[in-house]
Amino acid sequence: MTIVRTQIAVIGGGIVGRSVALALARTGAGVVLVDPAADLAAASWGNAGHIATEQLEPLASPASLRSVPRRLFVFGGALDLPIGQAAAWLPFAARLLRASTPARHAAGTAALGGLLAEAMPAWRRLASAIDAPDLLREAGHFVTWPTAAAAEKGLAAWQATDTGTASVAAAGAADLATLRSVAPGIAAAIRFAGTGQIADLARLGDASDAALAAAGVAVVARQATLVRESGRMAIPGIAADRIVVAAGIGSRPLMAQAGHRVPLIAERGYHIRAAAGGWPADLPPVVFEDRSIIVTRYADCVQVAGFVELGRADSAPDPRKWARLERHVGELGLPLTGPFQRWMGARPTLPDYLPAIGRSTRADNLFYAFGHQHLGLTLAPVTGELVAALMAGATPAVDLSPFAIDRF
Ligand SMILES: Cc1cc2nc3c(=O)[nH]c(=O)nc-3n(C[C@H](O)[C@H](O)[C@H](O)COP(=O)(O)OP(=O)(O)OC[C@H]3O[C@@H](n4cnc5c(N)ncnc54)[C@H](O)[C@@H]3O)c2cc1C
Repeated sequence: MTIVRTQIAVIGGGIVGRSVALALARTGAGVVLVDPAADLAAASWGNAGHIATEQLEPLASPASLRSVPRRLFVFGGALDLPIGQAAAWLPFAARLLRASTPARHAAGTAALGGLLAEAMPAWRRLASAIDAPDLLREAGHFVTWPTAAAAEKGLAAWQATDTGTASVAAAGAADLATLRSVAPGIAAAIRFAGTGQIADLARLGDASDAALAAAGVAVVARQATLVRESGRMAIPGIAADRIVVAAGIGSRPLMAQAGHRVPLIAERGYHIRAAAGGWPADLPPVVFEDRSIIVTRYADCVQVAGFVELGRADSAPDPRKWARLERHVGELGLPLTGPFQRWMGARPTLPDYLPAIGRSTRADNLFYAFGHQHLGLTLAPVTGELVAALMAGATPAVDLSPFAIDRF
């Protein structure tokens, strides 16, 4: 195997690893990105495209716990805890319970709020740095309900929620008419401002590839492992002074190799895609809150995404979830026809629903950025900037102490 030499090796070529690598290259460091995948099957390339600056409140909360029974897949909901994978999710659930006290929830909201406040400005900088400013659309998103009563309750809940830099208002008549042109049963909707979407994930992949090449970041197509060499971490075959683990769900075994036991779980989600058909090209993402799905118009398709399935990243997908998504499409009367493209991917999630960003306490040449749960697309650019600042010896713009992995 040829030995690759570099100052910094970033492990993981999802959107978080790419953002980290690009931010580091801008500081003048020599960087390589290590990732064996060529088919963009990771979560970064199948998510809902929503820049979710409104989601300050970590899902580890008393309210989420109370809602578990009615959210279960067996009762028609979006949350699945497969019995056969209890060994994976039971320890996670125990930690989630401990992280869901009102005090920890409030601290988590403050910490996540600090990151999310910087998310949109960092996205503007990244979109411009990869020469694709039009990929970032700042037109908000919609949340919809099928009945006036559900809408009243839903709106009240959102108004009682800390949405940070995002704001919410009742959708106007023109917006409602557009929404009803794709989903006739919508009774009421709200429109968020200050949120956004990425217009095309495939083009994000291409534009970031080109930007990495232009910045001199070589991509090494290998599955990395970490070994300890005289108190420092090393990647066999890659001579790097410093290493960043940004490998999504694959970060768990890597961190274990460095001596960190990380309670990261695969929170798997599913999507189906269809030709764009009659879906308006400029309609921002639409959430059907009672069905826990989000519909996103991408450049050449419409995607319907949902489900939270806790378990092992490598277990087979559950086709019932795709079938249920197709049923939602039919029941809502969306103008989408099959055959649908089917996809499943893993959100990398920690039990307190905060990411892990920082420097290892077990090897001082090791840094990490993973665990971005439902917000990895939203938080990737700001994460990249924070890691680059940390590694350059500057004070990061956001206090990183709540994200230290030693909290577990
Ligand atoms: C259905 C769904 C909808 C979502 N919607 C949104 C949304 O609207 N907005 C939002 O902000 N977020 C959303 N998310 C979450 C978001 O997609 C993830 O948080 C994010 O993609 C995580 O990015 P990542 O780079 O950390 O990991 P990934 O995208 O999983 O990438 C990790 C990469 O690391 C590589 N890797 C792993 N192990 C190794 C190794 N040992 N050596 C080398 N490489 C390795 C993998 O090949 C992979 O390419 C959604 C997720 C899902 C599943």
